[in-house]
Amino acid sequence: MSAGWSLEGRGDEIVLPDGPLAAVFLDLDDSVFQTRRKCPPGPLETATLDSQGRPSSYFGFGQRCLLELFSWRTLIVPTTARDRAAFGRVKFDFRHGAILNHGGLILRPDGEIEPVWQERMRPLCAEAGPLLAAVLDSAERVMRHNNLNCRARIIGDAGLDFYVVVKSNESRVEDLRTILNEIKGSELGRQIRIDLNDNNLAFRPLFLDKAEAAAYFAENLLPPNCRDLPTIGLGDGFSDLEFMRRCDFLLTPRGSQISSLLSAPEAIGSCSSEAPGFGGSSAGSAAFGTASSEAEGET
Ligand SMILES: [Mg+2]
Repeated sequence: MSAGWSLEGRGDEIVLPDGPLAAVFLDLDDSVFQTRRKCPPGPLETATLDSQGRPSSYFGFGQRCLLELFSWRTLIVPTTARDRAAFGRVKFDFRHGAILNHGGLILRPDGEIEPVWQERMRPLCAEAGPLLAAVLDSAERVMRHNNLNCRARIIGDAGLDFYVVVKSNESRVEDLRTILNEIKGSELGRQIRIDLNDNNLAFRPLFLDKAEAAAYFAENLLPPNCRDLPTIGLGDGFSDLEFMRRCDFLLTPRGSQISSLLSAPEAIGSCSSEAPGFGGSSAGSAAFGTASSEAEGET
């Protein structure tokens, strides 16, 4: 030992497990694959199909390598706004369960819906139904009034309605921002979270939260011998920070909405406070205002 100190006698030795070494809560769209217009140069591999069975999103080389790395020694838990149908069209074999519909639905590792979580969501979704209908109506009114070529719909799954998503048919983010501003400035804007990330505008009831679903998953659905493993949160949009900041490590793609904070010192300066971790450790959180992040699926 060349230094003047030693770890000997300082406590238990770290013994690495033979199985998984971490649990990864993994956002999908724009984190590990994206639509063609947003793809990096180089080789691509089909990542998702649209509802007609046509390729709609692609893995880049680095993204595919990262997934392969995770597959080797981690438990991957997709944590996505996709519903079951859209998740089923992802061309990757996820085996450890999933968090779908922005946290509204949880799939257990055996692929079945987690009933306890679903029963927790059921009354909340029922109560939010009129709000979602009002937001959809308002968005469609703004689209008609401004002649915007957009489409809006309520995303529902397994008998529950979760959130409203609006997309521009011409990928015109300024059109989505027009809708966002109209609704944000109305009475509805105070009752709902508004997330804008590229060509996705989502209106979520306040209870719908990937972080709460991820916390539930970590406590109840990770294998018991894996609940002390470090957690990694990987996402691209501001709304992903809700679950990422509860993980032990945060990972975001270069060029993502989250990474833009790194060149915005005033935003970093506003980072503050504690967020409860899944197992113990926590990371800082940031205040970002109302508009953030994304709703996913094919764009
Ligand atoms: Mg994303």
